[in-house]
Amino acid sequence: MHKENILNLYLKELEQVLVKWQYEKFHARQIFTWIYKKDVRDFSRMSDLSAELRKKLVDNFTILDIELLKQLESRDGTRKLLFKLKDTNTIEAVNIPTEKRVTGCVSTQVGCKFGCSFCASGMLGFKRNLEISEIIEQVLFLKDETDERLNNLVFMGIGEPLDNYDNVLKAIRIINAPWSLNIGARKITISTCGFIPGIKRLMEEGLQLELSVSLHAAEDKIRNILVPINKKYPLSELTSTLKEYIKKTNRQVTFEYILIEGVNSDISSAKNLSRILKGLNCKVNLIPCNSVEELGYTPPGKLDILLFKDHLIKSGIDVTLRIIRGRDIQAACGQLRLEQPSADPTPKKAFS
Ligand code: SF4
Repeated sequence: MHKENILNLYLKELEQVLVKWQYEKFHARQIFTWIYKKDVRDFSRMSDLSAELRKKLVDNFTILDIELLKQLESRDGTRKLLFKLKDTNTIEAVNIPTEKRVTGCVSTQVGCKFGCSFCASGMLGFKRNLEISEIIEQVLFLKDETDERLNNLVFMGIGEPLDNYDNVLKAIRIINAPWSLNIGARKITISTCGFIPGIKRLMEEGLQLELSVSLHAAEDKIRNILVPINKKYPLSELTSTLKEYIKKTNRQVTFEYILIEGVNSDISSAKNLSRILKGLNCKVNLIPCNSVEELGYTPPGKLDILLFKDHLIKSGIDVTLRIIRGRDIQAACGQLRLEQPSADPTPKKAFS
């Protein structure tokens, strides 16, 4: 019998199931309290439910369908988790601890269709969208493997989140709910390569999410190469959509800009960038590029990075230079990829 993963459900949906089974609907809240707040992901251990209800849950639902295959820890404390899905595909998620917080970074697709040229995730092509439960399970693993509270979440792992719109948005609404993990919407960032149909839908949701756009070039001819979706949705269309987004949501947008030696990091690129962002309520996150062996890009020297940053500041743009985390375990931006599990993986269980 096909069993559904219970993490796919809103509280109200589980209440409806219970009522259909002729149980009181308050049990739904008990069940989700065990799963999300008490970290118990085994129906048989939910001791305030009757034995009969526990059996019914076991017969009809699963909780954990993804399996942790491998964990790698960087010298800087960043931890990368490799998971095997039910269909044996693999995905990755990352925990990035800093002094004040822990940020989890999750994947939304198996592979990616968008083929950004600096990014390892798209190198093996697209396989499928992740299910709602597969997205939430990554968050549960990340939460369980950190001692501190997981208080920030970024959808910046493998895949384009807005290309798996419905599943990502439902997963976010669940993660955000008080009966679940209660991670604030303002602590959740969706990253997009500039998928305009998704940005247009997102601005109608009324959610206080953070939106981060992988910009990486301020001229179409360079962006067409770095972020090929630019051929379909060029910079003028992207910036006018974002103007509308900012107006409608009253939220600031963050632009990610990877600095690549000889490609987009000279002063004329900085001038172009200031020009196209003029008047937008935004900030720019500069990221000296990471090396992914097969791609052959290198970061510019320190002086060029500082000159670039300085030009943006002088043009009145709010700018930060991102500290690179997890580079030694290939967990930094643009380095996540579909890894094949080793021949003899030792499965580790994160949950009791
Ligand atoms: S940067 Fe994002 S959208 Fe582009 S290929 Fe990588 S995962 Fe896909």
